[in-house]
Amino acid sequence: MDVVDSKTRSRIMASIKGRNTKPELALRKALHRRGFRFRLHAKDVPGHPDLLLRKFNAVVFVHGCFWHRHEGCRHATVPATRTEYWTSKFERNVARDNEVRSRLLDAGWRVATVWECALRKAEHVDVATQMLAGWLSADGRETVIEEGRVAERIAKSGLELPDPET
Ligand SMILES: [Zn+2]
Repeated sequence: MDVVDSKTRSRIMASIKGRNTKPELALRKALHRRGFRFRLHAKDVPGHPDLLLRKFNAVVFVHGCFWHRHEGCRHATVPATRTEYWTSKFERNVARDNEVRSRLLDAGWRVATVWECALRKAEHVDVATQMLAGWLSADGRETVIEEGRVAERIAKSGLELPDPET
């Protein structure tokens, strides 16, 4: 028996599975608007990356800061009760993420990790997308996009002339 409507239910499921979350949807929309095309949650690739861009030989993970333990992030809190349970659960998540990342890199994929904190504010989404787009079009093996780097970029752009490349 349903006790929540389907919209609420799909939002709850998204937050549990970490797929199609609000920050992920915001990034997808902004990236798509810039002309990038991608596959979602590719089942045949280790870790089922949130986005796969074959043309750029790249995969993108949008990681929730709490579940995936974004180091030093204010959203990576530890619940006050059942701390041991949570700690071991978090350790497993981090170990799995590391393993998936090395498997992908070994297989020749380029790997981007976008932490959800970078996508919480609308004005940050555009800058985070710009950073991701820049990385995709360059040739780095790995990149990490997080709130701190996005805020830094915004602070810098306020003082300098806009980069003609972007
Ligand atoms: Zn974070």
